[in-house]
Amino acid sequence: FIQMYYEHIYNADKFIGSIFVHRDITREHQVDEMKNEFVSTVSHELRTPLSSVLGFTELMLSKELKPEKQKKYLNTIYKEAKRLTSLINDFLDIQRMEAGKQNYEKKPVNLKEIVEEVLDSYRINATKHSFFIEDSTDCYELIGDADKIKQVFNNFISNAVKYSPNGGLIIIRFYEKQGNLFVDIEDEGLGIPEDALSKLFTKFYRVDNSDRRQIGGTGLGLAISKEIVTAHGGGVAVTSALGKGSTFTLSFPLATKKEMRPDKSSEDI
Ligand code: ADP
Repeated sequence: FIQMYYEHIYNADKFIGSIFVHRDITREHQVDEMKNEFVSTVSHELRTPLSSVLGFTELMLSKELKPEKQKKYLNTIYKEAKRLTSLINDFLDIQRMEAGKQNYEKKPVNLKEIVEEVLDSYRINATKHSFFIEDSTDCYELIGDADKIKQVFNNFISNAVKYSPNGGLIIIRFYEKQGNLFVDIEDEGLGIPEDALSKLFTKFYRVDNSDRRQIGGTGLGLAISKEIVTAHGGGVAVTSALGKGSTFTLSFPLATKKEMRPDKSSEDI
């Protein structure tokens, strides 16, 4: 996108000539397009759970319902309201990260315990997938922000569930290499086209093809997760085969003994 115009030059109100300006505004145009897309994604994503909350509340108010029905509708309302909260949190997170205002409260944490906690919530709610943990290490101690790391695993595990058919197996694999703890999240789902792999961690990016158009999302989860992992000195990678499944790999630097017991040296004296 090129913008062209003449600019008149004055010196103390005296016209001295014109220059022809030829500006490349592709970047500004892309930013504008992303903003428009953002507004339409946000409104759509907020509207879907909201209409469900409104619809079920109206239904409950308009009729006498049996207790089982009431419980079922209340469950849906609760789930959709929770989804609204997490969407709003995602929007706020990305804004905070861009402004460089995200705070991390880092302490010694056990990564396996965090992952187990995330899995427990899926084991209770989503029984349509099975989870399997493989581990070849017993070092899980990192210095990190437990809530933020939990959010990262929630994102990867919920994607593995969301983009896999019912009955799919999801493997979580822990291993250690050169002072880093690696975690694979492997699914047998839709997979990701090769040309999308490099764009996957860009905010608002969503793979657009017919088999996933019905699956809701904002394209923010992976961008937020990458920010968080990077802020912990770690990394993210993905390999995938379309129609077969995907493996996302996260790595985190393991805590050193000194980091785990910062007061040890003074105790020894
Ligand atoms: P969202 O799921 O809200 O669209 P994400 O940032 O979490 O956003 O993911 C970006 C895109 O990457 C998704 O739209 C989806 O197409 C693709 N994706 C992420 N995880 C998987 C997965 N496990 N299997 C297949 N596709 C995935």
